[in-house]
Amino acid sequence: MRAAVTREPGSVSIEEIDKPVPAMGEVLVRLAATGICHTDLSMVSGALPAPLPFVPGHEGAGVVEATGPGVEDVGVGDHVVLSIVVSCGSCYQCGLGNLSICEVGSAMAPGGLLLDGTTRLSNGGEEFHSLLCQSSLAEYAVVPSNSAVPIPKDIPFPVASLLACGGGTGFGAVVRRTTLWIGSSVVVIGCGGVGLTAIMAAKVRGATTIIAVDPSAGARAMAEKVGATHVLDPDGDRVLRSVMELTGRGADVAIDAVGRKGTVETAFQSIRAGGEVVAVGIDDASNEVELDLYGFMMQKRVTGTYAGSLVPRIDIPAALALYRDGRLPLDVLVSETYTLDDVPGLLTNEIRLPPGRAVVCFDQPEERP
Ligand SMILES: [Zn+2]
Ligand SMILES: [Zn+2]
Repeated sequence: MRAAVTREPGSVSIEEIDKPVPAMGEVLVRLAATGICHTDLSMVSGALPAPLPFVPGHEGAGVVEATGPGVEDVGVGDHVVLSIVVSCGSCYQCGLGNLSICEVGSAMAPGGLLLDGTTRLSNGGEEFHSLLCQSSLAEYAVVPSNSAVPIPKDIPFPVASLLACGGGTGFGAVVRRTTLWIGSSVVVIGCGGVGLTAIMAAKVRGATTIIAVDPSAGARAMAEKVGATHVLDPDGDRVLRSVMELTGRGADVAIDAVGRKGTVETAFQSIRAGGEVVAVGIDDASNEVELDLYGFMMQKRVTGTYAGSLVPRIDIPAALALYRDGRLPLDVLVSETYTLDDVPGLLTNEIRLPPGRAVVCFDQPEERP
């Protein structure tokens, strides 16, 4: 099969490697669409650690082509979203319902391995690591069956793929990690795939003041399109002052979908006493935050989330039902589609990522000669 491969930091090439075979509890999925997430770029550049060599891609959707032994929850021909939430189902965190921080998944995925501690990706004996148990910038991926979430067949794959990582993270950050409710105010810092979906989810939840912050005019325009009531440019506007003017006392909730120096701090300063911050993004593993202790005395709360703390088989179908209903306009995010041959350029900044989400689409079998 054809796959994007990173052998050294900063480089990506398209190579022919062996088609993987699913083992116990795994499924083989033929990819139809895979979104490009900033985490892919950070792992390719080395800003986030990733074991080399690896096949990037962790925002995939496609069709189940084969199942390994013991798989009963998905079948051949099912359309699936490949969630980055990979869970073993039997560890302490899984027992608590915290699937996104499963102890086995959290140990294996960053190390480039599947849940049994090995990889299915190889070429003539040379092994490749699996990015976040997925590696979906390839024609096929083998994933744990419980991270392959069946979806209705009429949902377009590019839309569905967004819920694998970025869209699912923004949706879950609001739905699973905040107490946002009718009439709430929320600040969303960073309007990429995560932030834009958080804006949509905040609107669904009933927030009436939704303030989007992003230096890109294109991203701000998209934020307005999906539900932001106000947009701010952090380079020109005085964000904190504007938030205070718009909310009277600071926002009820702030979501940091960027994770660069100063962004969590801005989120913390923009909330009211007793408000809450959810840290969602991180662009460099060495990033730290500095918060004023007095804010904690004022009962401000800070939390974070991996993958929006999604429960994939509940939250992904729910998000798609809202999409169908026109209330979660995920299709607006699919700004441009690309092919696998564009991936080296997309992951090394040679091709500038558009506002919203760049989605790589794969030829389907009936279209092949
Ligand atoms: Zn991602
Ligand atoms: Zn677990």
